[in-house]
Amino acid sequence: MRELYWFQGDLRLQDNPGLLEHIAARELVLVYIWQEWPAWCNQHGMGPQRERVQWEHLQALQTALRARDQDLLVVRGQAEQVLPRLVRQWQIERVGTSFHPGVYEARQRRMLQERLAVPLQIHPGNSLWERRHLPFALDDFPPHYTPFRKAVETLPIPSPLQAPDRLPPPPRGLAFPPLAEPSRPPTALPLRGGSLAGRRRLQQYLDATDGLADYAQTRNTLNPFDGSSTLSPWLAAGALSAREVAHALGAAEEASGSTTSTEALFRELLWREFFHWRAARDGHFLFRPHGRGVRRQRLCTFDPRAFARWCQGDTDYPLVNALQRQLVATGWMSNRGRQISASCLIHEMGVDWRFGAAFFEHHLIDFDMASNYGNWQYIAGAGADPRGGRHFNLDKQTREHDPEGVFIAKWGGHRPQQPRYVTDAADWPITLPQDD
Ligand SMILES: Cc1cc2nc3c(=O)[nH]c(=O)nc-3n(C[C@H](O)[C@H](O)[C@H](O)COP(=O)(O)OP(=O)(O)OC[C@H]3O[C@@H](n4cnc5c(N)ncnc54)[C@H](O)[C@@H]3O)c2cc1C
Repeated sequence: MRELYWFQGDLRLQDNPGLLEHIAARELVLVYIWQEWPAWCNQHGMGPQRERVQWEHLQALQTALRARDQDLLVVRGQAEQVLPRLVRQWQIERVGTSFHPGVYEARQRRMLQERLAVPLQIHPGNSLWERRHLPFALDDFPPHYTPFRKAVETLPIPSPLQAPDRLPPPPRGLAFPPLAEPSRPPTALPLRGGSLAGRRRLQQYLDATDGLADYAQTRNTLNPFDGSSTLSPWLAAGALSAREVAHALGAAEEASGSTTSTEALFRELLWREFFHWRAARDGHFLFRPHGRGVRRQRLCTFDPRAFARWCQGDTDYPLVNALQRQLVATGWMSNRGRQISASCLIHEMGVDWRFGAAFFEHHLIDFDMASNYGNWQYIAGAGADPRGGRHFNLDKQTREHDPEGVFIAKWGGHRPQQPRYVTDAADWPITLPQDD
């Protein structure tokens, strides 16, 4: 058979169950579709760092495929148009891809099922368990993290699968245009995209004495590679498999015993899993201001100046400014940083959380739809937080996480004082003083 495998959030060869389902084909077309999603909440496309890292993931995948006499066809466009065209052009008999919990992705799957004249098979995505392994149906998904964790934490995690040694060849005559390098700056952080680099980072983190061993104490540090694992850029693209990380962690526990740090890191992988399945259940509710909750009074104002100040790191909060500047410059922010910045936008500045989530989506080199929107909803009180949202005390956070002001100084977080409100040309106040 001549088959086609569409890589999405699984940019790797090892432990890729979807790809393995297609290695018995006579000929195989391997495709990645660089898609543009509609503009949303003032954001469009990918920020420079995110685009650069995504390109590196693809380049690394292409190199790994070429070592197996295959190649990666990268096409710009929308999957519902590109795939039917390729199927017709190359007389493909079967198409496969991996599961992604996104709403657009679900809509595309439905469209493709209608438009493709051949079967479309959806294989497991980058999760610890497949849907059939979960001890509940998605309709009965636990409302909060803790019951979810308790229900799944002792389930066996399937072993990662080997990368295929060989792959079926592409059809004769299929041309692979070179992968155009984005006109974007190089990665600002000392990391490379691609699964080799991701696996190297995993090993380094597990082996280093100041890595996993101290995770429980250092995971809230604000810098990458400094406390938390910084595996997210590879996990989010599927350049690293979540099962591989979990098994590597299990092996480390077997070798040296389970510690508060190994347990804490495993619980973070479960948070990722929680948001993955929650997004699969929630669909478009993940993008609603009140999530699945009761619709409260509609927000009818949007303060563009407040939002712009937050985006640029020019607020009255030096730590938030430093964090936002770190995000824009590097495409990464620590978990504690994301919580602080999100809380500031929502609770201090009163902006609709979805604008912040969209800004993160634009810039994050580890953007993951389920984790990003799930965490934003959590802090806004529109999601899975049993306490109805998290409001962080910014002074306290600054004292705890940047007591000497080193991080703030590094990213230029101290900004000149701004007027409390400005007027436009017609003398209308654009931002009203809070206490008027
Ligand atoms: C507002 C907000 C937005 C976020 N957006 C994203 C996003 O787009 N992509 C993303 O991968 N994570 C997101 N997170 C979760 C978390 O901040 C990052 O996964 C983490 O900072 C990545 O750094 P690390 O790899 O060093 O994490 P570690 O602490 O070393 O954790 C290991 C892995 O566990 C997972 N993980 C850790 N914390 C969380 C969490 N709270 N929720 C879900 N998974 C978690 C990640 O895959 C991470 O790589 C967001 C958190 C917040 C508060």
